[in-house]
Amino acid sequence: MYANLEMLIDGKFTRGSSGKGEPVINPATEQTLAELPHAAKSDLEAAVAAAEKGFAAWKAMSAYDRYRILRKGAEIMRGRADAIAKVLTMEQGKVLAEAKIEVVTSADILDWYAEEGRRAYGRIIPGRMPGLRQMVIKEPVGIVAAFTPWNFPALTPMRKIAGALAAGCSIILKPSEETPGTAVEVARCLQEAGLPEGALNVVFGVPAEVSSYLIAHPKVRKISFTGSTAVGKQLMKLAADGMKRTTMELGGHAPVIVFDDVDAASVAKIAAGGKYRNAGQVCISPTRFFVHESKYKQFVDTFTEVASGLKLGDGLDASTQMGPMANARRLEAMDMFVADAKAKGAAVKTGGERPANQGFFYKPTVLADVPLAARIMHEEPFGPIAVVNRFDTLDEAITETNRLPFGLASYAFTRSAETMQRLGLEIDAGMTTINHLGLALPEVPFGGVRESGYGTEGGSEAIEAYLVTKFITQLPG
Ligand code: NAD
Repeated sequence: MYANLEMLIDGKFTRGSSGKGEPVINPATEQTLAELPHAAKSDLEAAVAAAEKGFAAWKAMSAYDRYRILRKGAEIMRGRADAIAKVLTMEQGKVLAEAKIEVVTSADILDWYAEEGRRAYGRIIPGRMPGLRQMVIKEPVGIVAAFTPWNFPALTPMRKIAGALAAGCSIILKPSEETPGTAVEVARCLQEAGLPEGALNVVFGVPAEVSSYLIAHPKVRKISFTGSTAVGKQLMKLAADGMKRTTMELGGHAPVIVFDDVDAASVAKIAAGGKYRNAGQVCISPTRFFVHESKYKQFVDTFTEVASGLKLGDGLDASTQMGPMANARRLEAMDMFVADAKAKGAAVKTGGERPANQGFFYKPTVLADVPLAARIMHEEPFGPIAVVNRFDTLDEAITETNRLPFGLASYAFTRSAETMQRLGLEIDAGMTTINHLGLALPEVPFGGVRESGYGTEGGSEAIEAYLVTKFITQLPG
């Protein structure tokens, strides 16, 4: 039922030549699912050579032919969505319904980028003398090296694969070693759709070794990373040596402002649903709640009721509402954040501990009246912990929202048009969502500012990351 774990190099699925690897663990059971092969240096060399060959072949195809292959890949993926979702849940933990949505959304992303590839237009700029023709054309940047995390094993690889391929680039993807099966299944769909050999390559290994090799390689021209801010900074420094372009989708610590003109109980229900999605392991997870003083108690009570009623379990079980954390590191982080917040004076309204069973489970947690001195007020928990604090004035809420160096997602609930206007203009974040939690559709921009990174994945801006602008000016001879 789980995936056959192989790398994809030069159009062939292979276990590589290192003889080394690591086990992939099911976080709900702590059982080993399979042994993941690691690439030897010679496999990485082969992947770069294949990507060079793949780039030449793929770039030479018409945008229309590329579009047709990508669309076919999306169709194959939709047809296998149930099977891929199972692989995803087994290796990552999220509930099966969420996994299925992720897989289908990934196919939608592929469709979106495939279409965008047909619209990578240039332009003609009027000349200052008769007959002068000034042309701007867009070309694929070249070989892309992409690194993706374990929290969205289908969606984060797909954003990079689809962007690169739609623009006419080839790509070498290193997905997370903790959730490799989904990426391998995605690669199978694309390869079967008719990609030329080497256009898409997938490798695994020790992350720092693979990334330092690929980023330093002179043939690689573009780096795309999704993960923590700390690792993003390291990779940018490596990329700077080769003057390589980067896209960085990093951490967040999303604020949610709940004003006094809304039904606090309804908002609490919506917000709790969003908070515990994927056990809070989402870079746009609503986390720092600021609730107007007058609605605070009602909000905390309802949120706590929803959180404490969630059924934890194996994501494959249809009755499960929240799965385990993806790895044991997150459990340790949750214990640390809760112990620290308690010691600094926060109230634990529910959760704050691991349930007594097997698997990397952590109870949905609500921390109330958390002082600024607590680490969770500064560091992204990346887990099922909501922090709920009070505010009084709009200015105070905006200042608190913008206090941290992150600027990814931000949310607010209000009926006031004036307040909405101010929030849209004054919140320093890549994305602001008012009166709902919806983000991350293929057709809308997705990305952060400041320490949350830069570059947009999604929307009509996204393909630019994989294109270079060339200027050609000519007079008739
Ligand atoms: P981490 O910083 O060790 O790793 C984050 C990701 O980067 C992982 O996928 C890892 O495989 C990869 N990575 C690590 N070192 C690398 C390197 N030198 N080269 C290439 N890739 C490398 O942390 P973690 O324990 O896996 O996750 C914890 C933190 O990461 C979270 O607190 C969260 O802030 C962040 N994170 C963010 C996202 C996101 O969607 N932006 C996703 C996963 C994790």
